[in-house]
Amino acid sequence: MSTTETAIASAEAHSAHNYHPLPVVVASADGAWMTDVEGRRYLDMLAGYSALNFGHGNRRLIDAAKAQLERVTLTSRAFHHDRFADFCTQLAELCGMEMVLPMNTGAEAVETAVKTARKWGYRVKGVPDGMAKIIVAADNFHGRTTTIVSFSTDHEARADFGPYTPGFEIVPYGDLTALREAMTENTVAVLLEPIQGEAGVLVPPSGYLPGVRELTRERNVLFIADEIQSGLGRTGRTFACEHEGVVPDMYVLGKALGGGVVPVSAVVSSAAVLGVYRPGEHGSTFGGNPLACAVALEVVAMLRTGEYQQRAAELGDHLHQELGLLVGGGAVQAVRGRGLWAGVDIDPAQGTGREISEKLMDRRVLVKDTHGSTIRIAPPLVISKEDLDWGLEQLREVLRG
Ligand SMILES: *Cc1c(COP(=O)(O)O)cnc(C)c1O
Repeated sequence: MSTTETAIASAEAHSAHNYHPLPVVVASADGAWMTDVEGRRYLDMLAGYSALNFGHGNRRLIDAAKAQLERVTLTSRAFHHDRFADFCTQLAELCGMEMVLPMNTGAEAVETAVKTARKWGYRVKGVPDGMAKIIVAADNFHGRTTTIVSFSTDHEARADFGPYTPGFEIVPYGDLTALREAMTENTVAVLLEPIQGEAGVLVPPSGYLPGVRELTRERNVLFIADEIQSGLGRTGRTFACEHEGVVPDMYVLGKALGGGVVPVSAVVSSAAVLGVYRPGEHGSTFGGNPLACAVALEVVAMLRTGEYQQRAAELGDHLHQELGLLVGGGAVQAVRGRGLWAGVDIDPAQGTGREISEKLMDRRVLVKDTHGSTIRIAPPLVISKEDLDWGLEQLREVLRG
């Protein structure tokens, strides 16, 4: 057996099969490229589902992490540490908000958003105890905890994990009328992805997000934008909401916030909303730890210049222009997305998304399929135009058959 086959067989024998990875075993990576255990190089067109927006081994982020590793890595929130205030202040400023509640994973931040909205509903809005409702969209992806899968519409993500957490109402994504009709006095929040990533990079109809903003403001309901995947540069802006001129009441951030180095997530909002917490009411041992804060501070500093957003916008225009040329030629049925982020619907006659991904892997390009015949393209924002063009050429070759 090859080194690759041995590693995969061993992983399959000793790890739960909750993923179906492509048969590549990565040993190192740099920028937009990964190298496997047999020395083959692959172009990373997934970027850890946008956790690697700044590329593998980003010098600034690695240096920030190394420097912090030598000083202090963990204090717990029982004590203050000297990176915490800067991290919260600067992240809040980047978001145009006032307060930050740091956690680790995206799902934890979504859970935090849910808890915050409920508490705000009872303490500020005056919803009767136990009655708070949060409206979410069909085909959402917000994470994997028992509460979050309770409001998923994806059978695989949800089946066999009940009993489910009540208090959620599901409406079709992009449908303002359905949202208006679902709202009651007890609605405390609307939780949405401004672009639905896992669903296939679905961009809502223009006017939808401003409509949600208007409706939530009118009804004294929090608008929570899950920008874990769409935020922090991916779409060519700091936040995907910006494309529609919308400012939500709360951003939920994760993935790229940790620079692909450490898990860092956060809820960012106003003092009126995050101010509802008192000591003991919520927390996390690792949330806001010194190493996480040091890396995330560097991420925030990098985003402040706007250069990554601009790069994503320019390369994204190019990506969408090139992908657009494939639509209608038989192999590609539709392309969606914004910035350096695209969902490509392949004609099912050409094969499943998985089969296309495997063929791309044989040509040394790594992507991930989603839902049947859709593949997602989301390279690190640091990818060169030449590498992006090379990756697109491999896609054209695969589709040519
Ligand atoms: C990835 C993702 C999450 C969950 O983040 P984890 O770090 O995997 O828990 C939540 N929401 C969105 C939109 C995501 O893309």
